[in-house]
Amino acid sequence: MPYRRCEHPERPAAAVGPLRHTRTVRVLVVEDERRLASAVRRGLTAEGFVVDVAHDGVDGLHLAREGGYDAVVLDLMLPGLSGYQVCERLRAERNWVPVLILSAKDGEYDQADGLDLGADDYMTKPFSYVVLAARLRALLRRGARPRPAVLAAGDLRLDPAARTVRRGEAGVELTAREFALLEYLMRRAGQVVSKAELLEHVWDPDAVADLNVVEVYAGYVRRKIDTPFGRNALQTVRGAGYRLAADGG
Ligand code: CA
Repeated sequence: MPYRRCEHPERPAAAVGPLRHTRTVRVLVVEDERRLASAVRRGLTAEGFVVDVAHDGVDGLHLAREGGYDAVVLDLMLPGLSGYQVCERLRAERNWVPVLILSAKDGEYDQADGLDLGADDYMTKPFSYVVLAARLRALLRRGARPRPAVLAAGDLRLDPAARTVRRGEAGVELTAREFALLEYLMRRAGQVVSKAELLEHVWDPDAVADLNVVEVYAGYVRRKIDTPFGRNALQTVRGAGYRLAADGG
């Protein structure tokens, strides 16, 4: 009997390979650099995606709202509206389409700001189409998960979309980094979170940063959400990390 190397006994040939989708997956690419936009379209089409392109932030936002896409690949530096603004507006409208930011901006603050505004992933240029397609597939597997509109711990409330924090009736002004730190702790309210975990998630995972920076920022946050109100929500757990009291302290 001749040896047939291609067929897996339990799997039909059509299902083999990561590039075959069971349904059409539609991706919107928002990129003002036309040659790059065309190249991304070709690269993702070759990976099995159906791709539309918008060349500025205004069109990008319009299409993302109306087009029923499975995912959006979003540049940051765009004419009309920036990628940050596009993402922020989508999330403010409770549109949870998975967003992958693809940008030449590679600073840790750029990445943190993008993720703070509700993007799901961030890749820097130059990039590999194979990796971009793989990251998109990972996002699609996770799907468009609604984020809770407002996080609450007692009378401490944080709205990730509107980017506001309130203690009771009082508004609290936080910087982007302080906001990201508090949001991360509030999503795990009542649990101990280590400094290393905070450093990894709130700061750039690739940046070599000192754990002391977490202490410094925890102090800043505490002086804004706790001290003026005589409260103790952001608690230090000695030798372990921090805990955001579920009852707001
Ligand atoms: Ca651009």
